[in-house]
Amino acid sequence: MTTTRYPQRVRNDLRFRELNVLRAERVCAGFQRIVLGGEALDGFSSRGFDDHTKVFFPAPGATFVPPVVTEEGIDWGEGVRPQSRDYTPLYNEVNHELALDFFIHDGGVASRWAMEAKAGDRLTIGGPRGSLVVPEDYAWQLYVCDESGMPALRRRLEGIAKLPVRPEIHAVVTVADGSCQDYLAHLSAFNITWVVGHSEQAVADHLAALTVPQEDYFIWLTGEGKVVKNLSRMFETDAIDPQLVRASAYWHAK
Ligand SMILES: Cc1cc2nc3c(=O)[nH]c(=O)nc-3n(C[C@H](O)[C@H](O)[C@H](O)COP(=O)(O)OP(=O)(O)OC[C@H]3O[C@@H](n4cnc5c(N)ncnc54)[C@H](O)[C@@H]3O)c2cc1C
Repeated sequence: MTTTRYPQRVRNDLRFRELNVLRAERVCAGFQRIVLGGEALDGFSSRGFDDHTKVFFPAPGATFVPPVVTEEGIDWGEGVRPQSRDYTPLYNEVNHELALDFFIHDGGVASRWAMEAKAGDRLTIGGPRGSLVVPEDYAWQLYVCDESGMPALRRRLEGIAKLPVRPEIHAVVTVADGSCQDYLAHLSAFNITWVVGHSEQAVADHLAALTVPQEDYFIWLTGEGKVVKNLSRMFETDAIDPQLVRASAYWHAK
């Protein structure tokens, strides 16, 4: 009998960093990449493929003083807390640059900021405060996401692509527009099933056709809150170890 390997949580010292926008790039039709740098990036660490950094968006004209981390916790001071959103850190250790890939959609403060950002702008981020380090070499792995999880999936598959022996990977990615597929074009050697048009039922049908092995597997589901809740029920069975299933809402339909 083999011993089950579980993902491990690691903690980072929480830091708030005020970074410079180095450049903004349209990586493909649906994604705007903002590349950040600056001295404040020193010591940045992100060990989990689905880590998140909090990104702060002060109201136009408002002064934002980042909170101070004290022994008692986070001191936000007297100021108004700006809106914040979670984004997947794509850190390039060699260049010491941090990229955030924003899916562009209607009506969001983050999405709008990313479209307008230009070199020289400033952005404050916090974290990642902790990471879930998930072994890359589980023999069988399933990834389910929509556009919001594609940066994490991209990071994950780029890591797995470097393994000497490639595990069996199934990815089911649901997108509003087929042009978003370009974002993962360099990873087409992986088994990626695309659902164009965001049909929860179509995703569920693909998942129902899969057989999760008895051991050495990992399942990751992200996307819109209700969709993730519904789909994750498919994996709530006695045969599946909940510690090997990670289901997280990445956004909520309003
Ligand atoms: C751990 C984690 C990591 C994430 N990483 C990324 C990432 O790397 N890249 C990324 O693009 N997103 C990522 N997200 C999702 C992102 O935080 C949300 O989509 C966020 O709501 C976007 O903020 P906004 O200000 O643009 O829109 P909001 O102001 O939050 O929402 C405005 C409107 O847009 C809708 N909306 C929000 N997000 C989406 C979406 N993804 N698709 C369609 N409609 C949407 C809302 O329902 C609302 O009607 C991540 C989320 C988590 C929890």
